Amino acid sequence: MNQKSDIVIVGGGIIGCAVAYELSKRGISVSVVDGRDVGGGATRASAGMLAPFIEGQHLEIMWTLGSRSLELYDSFVADVVSDSGHFVPYERTGTLEIALDKASLECLERAAERLSSVGVKCSLLTRAEAIAAEPHLGSNVHGGLVVSTHGFVNANALTCSLHHAAAKHGVCFITASEVIEISSHEDSVMVKTAGGTLLSGAAVLAAGSWVGRIPIEGVSPLPIRPVRGQLLRLLWTEASLARIVWGADCYVVPWSDGSILVGATVEDAGFDECATVSGVMSLLGAVCDLLPAAQGAGFDTVRVGLRPATPDDLPVVGRSAAMPNLVYATGHYRNGVLLAPLTARLVANLMLDGQEDPVLGEISPSRFGEF
Ligand SMILES: Cc1cc2nc3c(=O)[nH]c(=O)nc-3n(C[C@H](O)[C@H](O)[C@H](O)COP(=O)(O)OP(=O)(O)OC[C@H]3O[C@@H](n4cnc5c(N)ncnc54)[C@H](O)[C@@H]3O)c2cc1C
Repeated sequence: MNQKSDIVIVGGGIIGCAVAYELSKRGISVSVVDGRDVGGGATRASAGMLAPFIEGQHLEIMWTLGSRSLELYDSFVADVVSDSGHFVPYERTGTLEIALDKASLECLERAAERLSSVGVKCSLLTRAEAIAAEPHLGSNVHGGLVVSTHGFVNANALTCSLHHAAAKHGVCFITASEVIEISSHEDSVMVKTAGGTLLSGAAVLAAGSWVGRIPIEGVSPLPIRPVRGQLLRLLWTEASLARIVWGADCYVVPWSDGSILVGATVEDAGFDECATVSGVMSLLGAVCDLLPAAQGAGFDTVRVGLRPATPDDLPVVGRSAAMPNLVYATGHYRNGVLLAPLTARLVANLMLDGQEDPVLGEISPSRFGEF
């Protein structure tokens, strides 16, 4: 193999596929190279929630990134479905975040105030209102917060659809082909695999948790660490839930096929992608506390993925200072599915039009040093 394209993308997860689709729509010749199959990294485990305003997302910049990407979602999904011909399950039915004690109810009250002050539509529910909204909740509920613009998408179906849509626009996918080195050669980037070398004008590094493991000539490894997540798929037998339910120790995503996804563990386990007894037990316990009817659900599968995390939990999108025709698109941690449309647009605008969106200043690799 000795191929040439305008841009080579390393990694065919949801980020690599979204970037490939966006670049190819603008007439650029693109190759995507992945050591596994397309979508075989963290993406295959994702719950697919599109929920920037949920608990834990305290960083102002995450609100900006998340809400900008969420705004793009309707047209992103419609375009990908129309270009690929593949259906993508996608719902915007909102989230119900649950408080199980007085202190967490106060947190929800503060969150509601903050969200309302920036124009996000949300409603605080009393205990009775929360139970009326979601009759399966246990009796330990104190109240809830509904954010109606939130939603979810089937991340595997979306990645598959992006793959097909990008291929129709001419993207070449090279799978089962691990990148072992990246270097520069005159004005080009050389991406070396065991099967040969790909030469291109520029490269995008979208290899998720593994970005720091790929040797790049003259560039230090980016500080990306894998954070393992385990997630269950259960077969729900009761009347369906109306929207995502987010509890203290787990969240539940209801699908129209009658299944629910229960997530997720957050574990520092290196590059180990195995499911564990304790991970499964903790999720089963948490979902039965939140929704007692889950005790009657069928057990389908457990999924495991390594979320790519950075020292400040924000993504890394932008040019390498040490190799300017190399662009990073990684570190999306718990929000890679949500942030895929915006990341694709930021990368394409940067690489093709030289457009430096102001938000790139906050998520550039240079905040960690000369990468
Ligand atoms: C349990 C769980 C639940 C989640 N839920 C949500 C959610 O609800 N909403 C949300 O927005 N996000 C969620 N996430 C996070 C989301 O899944 C990730 O942020 C996203 O999948 C990252 O996508 P990626 O393309 O960067 O990485 P990946 O999907 O990991 O893709 C990276 C690709 O790079 C390839 N690769 C690695 N090294 C090499 C190499 N040397 N050569 C070639 N290819 C290479 C890998 O094979 C892989 O296919 C969840 C994650 C987990 C684990």
